[in-house]
Amino acid sequence: MSALLEVRGLKKYFKSGGGWLHAVDDINFTLDEGKTLGVVGESGCGKTTLGRVILRLLEPTEGQIIFEGEDRSAPSKKELVRMREKMQMIFQDPYSSLNPRMSVSELIMEPLLLQGKLTKTQIMQETSKLMDLVGLAGRYGSAYPHELDGGRRQRIGVARALALNPKFIVCDEPVSALDVSIQAQIINLLLDLQERLGLAYMFVTHDLSVVKYISDDIMVMYLGQMVEKAPSEELFVNPTHPYTQALLSAIPVPNLSKRKERIIMQGEITSPIDPKPGCRFKDRCRYAAPECGEPQILKETSPSHFVACCKSNSHN
Ligand code: SF4
Repeated sequence: MSALLEVRGLKKYFKSGGGWLHAVDDINFTLDEGKTLGVVGESGCGKTTLGRVILRLLEPTEGQIIFEGEDRSAPSKKELVRMREKMQMIFQDPYSSLNPRMSVSELIMEPLLLQGKLTKTQIMQETSKLMDLVGLAGRYGSAYPHELDGGRRQRIGVARALALNPKFIVCDEPVSALDVSIQAQIINLLLDLQERLGLAYMFVTHDLSVVKYISDDIMVMYLGQMVEKAPSEELFVNPTHPYTQALLSAIPVPNLSKRKERIIMQGEITSPIDPKPGCRFKDRCRYAAPECGEPQILKETSPSHFVACCKSNSHN
């Protein structure tokens, strides 16, 4: 079976002052239908830009985006419209991504109206089906976003993303603006929809505890690069890159006996503008050595577990 999505050598650079900001730098991965890739890293690591480039909301600088076996790196206008139907996005802050002057049902029917394929009656039927699918009671149809809580607003965002029957959804920090009690409801909704509709997700977040629950594989990004990628369980049991180890050590653990010492990252963050060829984590890494100044290549340290660190065998 070929992958639903294949990303090869993807780069996105932005002009910044006299140089280039390497927001996404040579990212490679594949994602199968019905699976979830979690993408984690601190803010500024390029994870949100990566999602936007894959959806072609931003032009890639270099690289290939192969979706359903076809190269979508430089689509025609017509292809782009078709692509946008199959590849959607759920945004972090549902409030700012929804037009406050539109009611819930108007917001959900908007993508269908813009698509222009269905009659008015069909659109009404689809809208009510979508509300049902995301757990929004029909009585909220005439409500406005400000009248709803964050969880219900995010359900509108999910319904809009589902309206055109996508196969792949970039979920960009979809629960980080929500109360903890509501986060679990939205995560469960996304998992349930994935099972029912066979959706593939790229789940972008800074919160590793959330990503563990939802992802099949996890990619850790640091300053535009993938530094580690592994099946979710494996990454949590055997984090190998020093940056991943530091991120994991910061997750609160309720059981005191299982609590590990928190690794504090010291030093300055390397500038992402025209970075030097060596490891970009070097200035914050407690294992840094002269050989870390060389370019770091991703190596498979155990099945499906990739790490970009020349000393990956000596500190796990
Ligand atoms: S390559 Fe060197 S500096 Fe970079 S993470 Fe590995 S040990 Fe640390």
